[in-house]
Amino acid sequence: MAEATHTQRVLVIGGGIAGITAAVDLADAGHEVVMVERLPSVGGRMLQLSETFPTLDCAQCTLTPRTVETGQHPNIKLYPYAEVVGLAGEPGAFRVRIRKKASYVDWSRCTGCGACQERCPQKVKTNPFERGVGIKKAIYTLSPQAVPNKPVIDADNCRYLTRGKCRVCAKVCPVDAIDYEMADTFVEEDVAAVIAATGFELYPMAALGEYGYGTVPDVIDGLAMERMLSASGPTAGQVLRPSDGRVPRSVAFIQCVGSRDPENHKPYCSRICCMYSAKHARLYKHKVHDGLATLFYMDLRSTGKGYEEFLQQSTEEEGLVYVRGRVSRIFREGDKVVLWGTDTLSGQPVEMAVDLVVLATAVTPNPEQAELARVLGIPADPNGFFQEAHYKTGSIETGRDGVFVAGCAQGPRDIADTVAHASAAASKVQVFLSRLRREAA
Ligand SMILES: Cc1cc2nc3c(=O)[nH]c(=O)nc-3n(C[C@H](O)[C@H](O)[C@H](O)COP(=O)(O)OP(=O)(O)OC[C@H]3O[C@@H](n4cnc5c(N)ncnc54)[C@H](O)[C@@H]3O)c2cc1C
Ligand code: SF4
Ligand code: SF4
Repeated sequence: MAEATHTQRVLVIGGGIAGITAAVDLADAGHEVVMVERLPSVGGRMLQLSETFPTLDCAQCTLTPRTVETGQHPNIKLYPYAEVVGLAGEPGAFRVRIRKKASYVDWSRCTGCGACQERCPQKVKTNPFERGVGIKKAIYTLSPQAVPNKPVIDADNCRYLTRGKCRVCAKVCPVDAIDYEMADTFVEEDVAAVIAATGFELYPMAALGEYGYGTVPDVIDGLAMERMLSASGPTAGQVLRPSDGRVPRSVAFIQCVGSRDPENHKPYCSRICCMYSAKHARLYKHKVHDGLATLFYMDLRSTGKGYEEFLQQSTEEEGLVYVRGRVSRIFREGDKVVLWGTDTLSGQPVEMAVDLVVLATAVTPNPEQAELARVLGIPADPNGFFQEAHYKTGSIETGRDGVFVAGCAQGPRDIADTVAHASAAASKVQVFLSRLRREAA
């Protein structure tokens, strides 16, 4: 890393497309960046995606060059599998405390050969990355393209760490990298400014009892669909029903699930679901040519460049069927999933039996975001996203000088808007750093 005083260093929290965009922009401009990512690898949600609207190009093809650049940039110091637990000091001279979580693998020895994952006997269905669609082993990496591509042990599921028997990974590791005694460690870094780019989670399906969660296995959320559609995902790109592994002949996609529903769930529009539901339905039809794809919507919002054309093509050329209406109940009948609702254009009730249902659930802040807001000393808005300084002219600044936000941590947005927001955050930080230099001169 190049010589620099701490007054030029920037902390970026979150290594999704927002965080890595801001970090690389700042690093290219000559600033040192300390990046903290809570997962073992950078990439964020894009690492889970298959192809992306509006161009249907492969998410990993866009993402991998950027994650590789982040991992190799001489001005970026990366702390994967770590969290920010404290921020002391003042704008321009913050001291950040970082917890490095125990991975139980000595990454300085590990070559990423994969032998441990291959031989680990413990299969885990609950790894959040695979959204219940596929399994991970108790020792795992996030994806074959992961940066860094080093494994961690899931301590809650490892046979040795929970029951004291196994040690297969230690036996097969050719470089003796497994360390079952490893504990969390703490480090401190001096930085002048902070960008919080911690992204989003999807509204939990458990909060959506009316949609059959827990009783109907063939109801999944959008990220589970992404994992199935991903060529490098758990089903190698095949769409399969969770209940019996069969290819569904009919799929219903329901938009606005938990969004735009102030009485019961979230009041806001999640902005991306109209587009990704159309994308999912199109990708499904590309795989199951005679399959029936029906989309339930409240309104169709397509405000990005090329988005309206994408939706037009979906109905006119790809044969997607749109029904305007809200589904009120989903239940299982035999091996079918039955939907009840109303077509709000005709006013007629709708009943439909399909093989699989994909819910476009609301985009929400990560559950830990409230605690991070407290640590950073910045406010959260009524929905839990980081509160911007001004709706129109200050979506990157927060109530605290020197602390900025980027991407979905501030509110739902697509990749194009996230990247623009993150580059703007990098630019705002540079203005802030120049101000510090002027004041110090
Ligand atoms: C089903 C689905 C399909 C989509 N398809 C498309 C598409 O086709 N085209 C498109 O333009 N957009 C699409 N999107 C939207 C896209 O995923 C987002 O625009 C993008 O991921 C936002 O990037 P981000 O960096 O803000 O957040 P994220 O991708 O969520 O990244 C945030 C990162 O921060 C990390 N983090 C969180 N909390 C902490 C913490 N406390 N400490 C350290 N690190 C932390 C996370 O682990 C993560 O790596 C889709 C979204 C969904 C849900
Ligand atoms: S010790 Fe744990 S991580 Fe290693 S192989 Fe056994 S179950 Fe898997
Ligand atoms: S077997 Fe050892 S070197 Fe190979 S990936 Fe696992 S921990 Fe790393």
